[in-house]
Amino acid sequence: MKENTTAPESINCSKYRPPKDYTHTQELIDNLPYIFMAIIGSIIQFLAITLSIWGAISAVIYFIYAIVGAFWIIIFVCPYCNYYDTRACPCGYGQIAAKLRRKSDENRFSEKFKKHIPVIVPLWVIPVITGGISLYFKFNNLLLTMLIAFIVNSYLILPLVARIYGCGHCPQKADCPWMI
Ligand code: SF4
Repeated sequence: MKENTTAPESINCSKYRPPKDYTHTQELIDNLPYIFMAIIGSIIQFLAITLSIWGAISAVIYFIYAIVGAFWIIIFVCPYCNYYDTRACPCGYGQIAAKLRRKSDENRFSEKFKKHIPVIVPLWVIPVITGGISLYFKFNNLLLTMLIAFIVNSYLILPLVARIYGCGHCPQKADCPWMI
């Protein structure tokens, strides 16, 4: 594992903090909102598609999609990141990426981020659509509760944790479409 020694360049942001090494506990905390999104999203799929076998199948597909999506980012984005193979990556993906792929050109990080992030965007959208349609036709208290929990977790907590807890340290934040 390399040390993160890169000095920040062209960063002029009030949220900037110097790079730090994250513990495994801190990495887990950073991953929790994404894990909750995968779990709650799967429950919504199960509840919304009331033909039970198809609900179960769609819940499993959604959960597998969330896992594949995480590895998609690890394989196709993280090798271009300054935090590849360092403990300065807040979620630990950079260390997993180092076991799967070689380091690539950091100057292409923004290009790779823009290209690959749309692959996981439907994870945020699918449960809202299926849950919303199901509620429209048949009200269900549990489904509504799950839908609210999903929206609060995925649209508020997850981006807040990423931007303030993790990305505030990133030397590439000036190039990162997520931050813009
Ligand atoms: S900071 Fe983001 S892009 Fe960089 S290695 Fe970690 S997860 Fe990947």
